[in-house]
Amino acid sequence: MTDSDVRLRAALDQVPSYIPGKPAAAQDGVTAYKVSSNENPYPPLPSVLKVVQEAAATINRYPDMAVTELTQALADSLEVPVEHIATGTGSVGVLGQVITATCDPGDEVVYAWRSFEAYPIVTALAGATSVQVGLDERARHRLDAMRAAITDRTKVVIVCTPNNPTGPMVTHTELERFVDAVPSRVLVVVDEAYVEFVTGDDAPRSLELYRQRPNVMVLRTFSKAYGLAGLRVGYAVAHPPVASALRKTATPFGVSSIAQAAAVASLAAFDELKERVDALVAERTRVVGALRGQGWAVPDSEANFVWFPLGHRSGDFAAAAQQAGLTLRQYGNDGVRATIGEREANDVLVRVAGEFLRSST
Ligand SMILES: *Cc1c(COP(=O)(O)O)cnc(C)c1O
Repeated sequence: MTDSDVRLRAALDQVPSYIPGKPAAAQDGVTAYKVSSNENPYPPLPSVLKVVQEAAATINRYPDMAVTELTQALADSLEVPVEHIATGTGSVGVLGQVITATCDPGDEVVYAWRSFEAYPIVTALAGATSVQVGLDERARHRLDAMRAAITDRTKVVIVCTPNNPTGPMVTHTELERFVDAVPSRVLVVVDEAYVEFVTGDDAPRSLELYRQRPNVMVLRTFSKAYGLAGLRVGYAVAHPPVASALRKTATPFGVSSIAQAAAVASLAAFDELKERVDALVAERTRVVGALRGQGWAVPDSEANFVWFPLGHRSGDFAAAAQQAGLTLRQYGNDGVRATIGEREANDVLVRVAGEFLRSST
């Protein structure tokens, strides 16, 4: 090997690496569960698998670059014009397109922290600057502080609701007051990757806010409730000219033909998928209730995961869970996130959490 003289952009030095959820670790005599990536524990629906197999027969051809059928299906189900839909390789892909379309080096992107770890990555890749606003003591967004963090350099504000990895949502009342206060030149991205799991009162009606304001857009995905994480398909609902900028910045042919077909079939099968979402929500309620009964101060979760604000004990807890077969997601010394998985995995989580409390008090 010789040293490389290839010159890379200095901005890359600021890009943190995405740390994916670890795979489940096999151990003798212990069932392993991967509850580290907020994936849907249910296998694909037979009707979805069938169109995936059919689409596989034509993979010698490029996909439909305009993503026509899926875009139309989304526009119909959301009751928005087709020109307001932009698709991408997962909503992370679309978010990257948002930042590429809006930010020059030195521009600022405001978002809560802790939040989704893709935010600092896509921001730094554009050479833009992250302005992170700490969550409150209930692990919720501090929208007033986020408003106050907006400067002349701010191009984008991201609101993650429900917030990954902590779980709470912002309310519609809060979000409406916030978007009313944000200057109309700043793009507000409402990241709703977990919207299908929301059951709380005064849930954000983000599409209503987008309809009323050209600077508000919504980001959604097929990866979580729809169970298509492996296929990489997400979308934005945005006014022109934002939506057309997102089409310009998309990877050409990025959404594969298999992903397009599976997403269309999943929209059509939403009633069936909704039963699974409801079952996961019921499990979330059961798990949060059990944990609080044990004495845990877990924040409210409107998504398919629970947050343990463990501070310096995060590593110990993640290790104890691993011993019991559960691969959780540890966030340094902030806390640990556990995805609501199959019932057996959730039972192990509650058991491990109870034992951990008893052994540490
Ligand atoms: C999982 C997730 C996404 C979606 O990721 P995909 O790229 O669509 O798989 C977006 N935002 C948040 C906050 C997430 O947790």
